Amino acid sequence: MQDTARKTILVVEDEKPIAEILKVNLVKNGYKVLNAFDGDEAVNLALTAEPDLILLDVMLPKQDGFSVCKKVRETMSTPIIMLTARAEEVDKVLGLELGADDYITKPFSLRELMARVKANLRRSSIVAADSNEPLCFAELEINVERYEVKKRGSVIDLTYREFELLKYLATQSGKIFSREHLLNKVWDYEYVGDDRTVDVTIRRLREKIEDDPSNPTYILTKRGVGYYFGG
Ligand code: CA
Repeated sequence: MQDTARKTILVVEDEKPIAEILKVNLVKNGYKVLNAFDGDEAVNLALTAEPDLILLDVMLPKQDGFSVCKKVRETMSTPIIMLTARAEEVDKVLGLELGADDYITKPFSLRELMARVKANLRRSSIVAADSNEPLCFAELEINVERYEVKKRGSVIDLTYREFELLKYLATQSGKIFSREHLLNKVWDYEYVGDDRTVDVTIRRLREKIEDDPSNPTYILTKRGVGYYFGG
């Protein structure tokens, strides 16, 4: 628990009983907790207190969670997990321009929520070093903060998972990861999909970033083992 002891979580939730349950459980798990009960307060607290992660409800008084997310993203790369009440909000949440890192639909289990918090904090620590600087590999430029990938200066349109997968591989360039490992780290803490999910996303990613997807130079296959970034 010591690695989480100093982490501060900003909980943005206007429904006091839910905010209280979240706070109690986060504190129990070793986190410090700040509460904001409307959108304006959320933006102010995010910018002044600089939390390590933000749990952000969508429906809020004064300004909604989407607006808060956009404003925070203008200056900060803090992981943001959106709490959504409706499935149709998920599309918006995952819009790359919005910059949310993850989402949880209500009602959620506390166990799931804690696991997501932990996973997002872990991912953010991987890219914490030089997160302002784009990662540059030959003709490919990956800007983690802006959720942007450019090839020869042109922006490439990636889905959320494609970007997360590319980011994960590229920030640990040269390291080989099994499909199981990637499923676990990039998709979910205990995603129960099968390995082909990884293969399909790798294939789509190659089609978008490689000059010749069947003869890739960035995302390479280690036969019988998995994938690695070779940029
Ligand atoms: Ca709400």
